[in-house]
Amino acid sequence: MTPEQTMRFLVTLRTRGVSDKRVLEAMESVDRAAFVSETFAERAYEDVPLPIASGQTVSQPSIVGRMTQALDVQPRDKVLEVGTGTGYQAAILSKLARRVYTVERHRALAAKARAIHEAMGLPNVTQITGDGSRGLPEQAPFDRIIVTAAAEDPPGPLLAQLRVGGSMVLPVGVSDAVQTLIKVTRGPDGFEYDELLPLVRFVPLVEGVEHD
Ligand code: SAH
Repeated sequence: MTPEQTMRFLVTLRTRGVSDKRVLEAMESVDRAAFVSETFAERAYEDVPLPIASGQTVSQPSIVGRMTQALDVQPRDKVLEVGTGTGYQAAILSKLARRVYTVERHRALAAKARAIHEAMGLPNVTQITGDGSRGLPEQAPFDRIIVTAAAEDPPGPLLAQLRVGGSMVLPVGVSDAVQTLIKVTRGPDGFEYDELLPLVRFVPLVEGVEHD
């Protein structure tokens, strides 16, 4: 990113509700162009979702920022991301958390994301190919969980793998239509649900693994 591109990118994020200093710094340090194909590299800093391989999309930067901000990641946190896609969101989380586990059901996307993370030197990110709707029981519980694909309701296994005091940010709603971004917080006596943003659009959370 040129200094001018960086400045414009940050102004757009701030204008669209991303105000957390640590989140803005993390987003400044991760070049979105590295995660999209050459065809779209020119548009990498625009606040638009972009198509990626396997028929999926990388979310628009302001949504990535708003979700990361709502997640309120702390430096000691172990974070689970469901839906690696390009690996862009995971790279941002890696700047904020102690450890990031990210799960992708498309084998090809997972491999590409892993290669980018390695090239960037992000040793605290672990990429797993699998069905993230089941979570990652062997690494549970998590302080934070972020889901970047839409389910009708928060998947039970993910709720179960959230530490007491932890929280999860995810889009919920019927997959073909628009969804609502929510935050689920686990307290000692149960779960609390807060609406963050109406009318978001994510690709659907799909069960099983794809070998493409
Ligand atoms: N966070 C990504 C964008 C995600 S797009 C980024 O920063 O680029 C949503 C991704 O979720 C897609 O790649 C899709 O294949 C994946 N996905 C959908 N259902 C899934 C599941 N059950 N487990 C893991 N990944 C899933």
